[in-house]
Amino acid sequence: MSKKKPKPTPQPAETLPGIVDAHTHLASCGARTGAEVDAFVERAVAAGVGKICTVGDGLAEAEDALAAAQHNPRVWAACAIHPTRARELDDAARARLAEMARDPRCVAVGETGLDTYWIRHKPEETAPLEVQEEALRWHIDLAVATGKALMIHNREGDADLMRILADSPKPRETVLHCFSSPLDVAHEAIERGYVLSFAGNVTFKRNDELRAAAAAAPAGQLLIETDAPYMTPEPYRGTRNEPAFVGHTAYCVAEARGQDPAELAAEVSATFDRVYGV
Ligand SMILES: [Zn+2]
Repeated sequence: MSKKKPKPTPQPAETLPGIVDAHTHLASCGARTGAEVDAFVERAVAAGVGKICTVGDGLAEAEDALAAAQHNPRVWAACAIHPTRARELDDAARARLAEMARDPRCVAVGETGLDTYWIRHKPEETAPLEVQEEALRWHIDLAVATGKALMIHNREGDADLMRILADSPKPRETVLHCFSSPLDVAHEAIERGYVLSFAGNVTFKRNDELRAAAAAAPAGQLLIETDAPYMTPEPYRGTRNEPAFVGHTAYCVAEARGQDPAELAAEVSATFDRVYGV
């Protein structure tokens, strides 16, 4: 008999009306058809989640994200090729992404950015840094041209990312999704007007520095997300995530900020509307 404790079945936090999920992957959660999308949204709504931004990180996934957003009025899409897959950004992909970004239900270009973690761990499967940089610059230009928010994925690429963002044209809004960088990067990002979006890892015991970053972000530069099906917040770390569980992260961020959770939810909802133009 295994001595390992069975993992608990994750449950939503106490309902927090008006909270949002600023970055999730509904298709990766298992929601592909309209009915499946509606089921995820219904469970999220029961937990107080009013709005969801779902992200496609490859061309097929971006089509899924846009279809979900066109189907359910509480869902908006972000479309891009993920940095690890930047070699897929060929001419056909560029042409289709440029079209998708102009759709009114697509509210962000992303996730794009830099990921050196996977370059180190799976170099043959991961686009090299110079290909990632070229793709990032193309996505920045698309965000600027369309007036949509730029949604950044950054894993262990702080210095290069901050350099590229500084010397590029400035999108209307720049969101650092699943913010996981050191506090000095948080301060620099806040100074530049970027929006820090916090995911379940802000709840992990060892991540005091992320909670400090969440406390430092002014209202208007703070979002909350699940990045589901990944990054499940405590106390369900390691299980499968979905938008209905975003409340755990919101309560943790509210505590780190010494803020009333309902007030935080209202602020984050207003930031969602401004950033994504909804
Ligand atoms: Zn993501």
